[in-house]
Amino acid sequence: MQQEKDTDAIRHSLAHLLAMAVLEKFPKAQLGIGPVIEHGFYYDFKLPQPLTPEDLPALEARMRELARLPLAMKGRKVAPAVAKKVFKNQPFKLDLIKEFTKEKRPLSIYTLSGPDSKSSFDDLCRGGHVKSTAEIPLEGFKLTHIAGAYWRGNEKNPQLTRIYGLAFGSKAELEDHLRMREEAERRDHKILGKKLGLFAFSPEVGPGLPLYLPAGNAIREAILGYISDLKRERGYSFVWTPHLAKESLYRRSGHLGKYDAMLPSIQAEDERWVVKPMNCPHHFEVYRASTWSYRDLPVRIAENATDYRNEKSGELNGLLRVRSLTQDDTHHIVRYDQIQAEIDMILGIVKHVYDRFGFKKFRARISIRDPKNKKKYFGSDALWEKAEAGLIEAVERWGVPHFIGTGEAAFYGPKIDVLVEDAIGREWQLTTIQLDYVQPENFDLSYTDEQGRKARPAVLHVAVLGSLDRFFAIAIEHFAGAFPFWLAPVQVGVLTVNEAAEPYAREVKNALAKQDIRVWLDERNETIGRKIREAELQKIPYLLVIGKREAEAKTVAVRERGKGDQGAVSLKEFQERIAPELS
Ligand SMILES: [Zn+2]
Ligand SMILES: [Zn+2]
Repeated sequence: MQQEKDTDAIRHSLAHLLAMAVLEKFPKAQLGIGPVIEHGFYYDFKLPQPLTPEDLPALEARMRELARLPLAMKGRKVAPAVAKKVFKNQPFKLDLIKEFTKEKRPLSIYTLSGPDSKSSFDDLCRGGHVKSTAEIPLEGFKLTHIAGAYWRGNEKNPQLTRIYGLAFGSKAELEDHLRMREEAERRDHKILGKKLGLFAFSPEVGPGLPLYLPAGNAIREAILGYISDLKRERGYSFVWTPHLAKESLYRRSGHLGKYDAMLPSIQAEDERWVVKPMNCPHHFEVYRASTWSYRDLPVRIAENATDYRNEKSGELNGLLRVRSLTQDDTHHIVRYDQIQAEIDMILGIVKHVYDRFGFKKFRARISIRDPKNKKKYFGSDALWEKAEAGLIEAVERWGVPHFIGTGEAAFYGPKIDVLVEDAIGREWQLTTIQLDYVQPENFDLSYTDEQGRKARPAVLHVAVLGSLDRFFAIAIEHFAGAFPFWLAPVQVGVLTVNEAAEPYAREVKNALAKQDIRVWLDERNETIGRKIREAELQKIPYLLVIGKREAEAKTVAVRERGKGDQGAVSLKEFQERIAPELS
């Protein structure tokens, strides 16, 4: 924590230094704001002439020179009149001073000044800096790029030039971060998705509505097949429900009125219909289609369902944020005394899934009530205390590091979210387990208890993968497109050297297809070198090269991804070798 604070002070001070350097270069520049952001800082300017990325190295060099002097950083509280005088030529600062004065917030000015007092720079700021620029690691920062931004984020205001910088406590940390960024760019699912032919977006269909191409859909089906099998083995019941519902269904669930902007709707005849943004109300109606006794619970209603949400176009991001998302959604209707055991079972599945995908590090966040604002939550204190303690105990039994998100619970119940670290150390939120006492009331869900009385169950809303689309994006980046055998869209490529090999190559292909392997035969009239190169770009796990020699001996020459030539073996031997990877 202390270290984070120090890094923030460095980042904040660098923002001041940047403004000082820009003002030297453009004395007429108008200053916006310069906050600390994740990994660095930025500063907004209105400049008398355009700035290009080529100008950044010189600005960066000047910042280093100024820091080396070194400059001291001192702050003082000032009265509005003083502040107005200091920033009389800075309209954006005057704008801020006006606002602060109106809100009766204190004003302070921080000054960077050199030993010769020739170089000095004032900024309106509330503090959190280094005392001297000598504390700034000179090789730990870098100006990275320029972007446009409106003053206060409002497009009616003047457009400013935003200069971004990265800053860390040392050169090594900066270099690590740059390497990680480069690696993340190399793994970008949007680029790999195009290269590997996994998915596409069409302007005719519309933004945020991905089209899964055959290779991408093969992976999608492999993921869904895997997770559905896990659930079936544990007694989940799969259902299918329509993509539309009467508006009144979402009024009953409480979503209409609260999340209207997220709910696409259509008018048909004299009724308004909602395109479903989630599956809960439909699944509650599935539950209500039968009568239940205490012995029947828990009931696990599962559906890999596609939902639709009016996400803002500016927030769409490849498969990470889409308008049509598929969830591996389940609703567990449970007696209160079953909540614990049910969560244990779900966390067991979660662990299974993460192991399968090679996610080694993960941690759980348990979202609980805001203790200062208990009124906003549904249900009694006792119920909440028991539920929160129950979730914490469940995660402790699970044995995974966890932390508490105070005040992050929904009004209807506490939840567990699991955050997963990918192959390059980025953290993603995947699984959500939401406990809910309110919807059973809204939908009058009930069962008959041991005494023959009507009793109220609780609901657990669970998506293990979360949004499948988002999970797919994360998996593409996690594996850098080199999917493990069980996920690879083409698992084995059969490549012919010449025409003479074709009849036997087809035999090989058919035998593998019979084994349920996704196999592709390349019998184009191309050189074998070219065929191998192209297949390797597709990151196919196994390539079987078949020429005259292999055809005569009934063998296959095996090339394994990442390992190269593995020599020739009989087809049967190869089939036996990969059999364990099929399960
Ligand atoms: Zn500051
Ligand atoms: Zn739900």
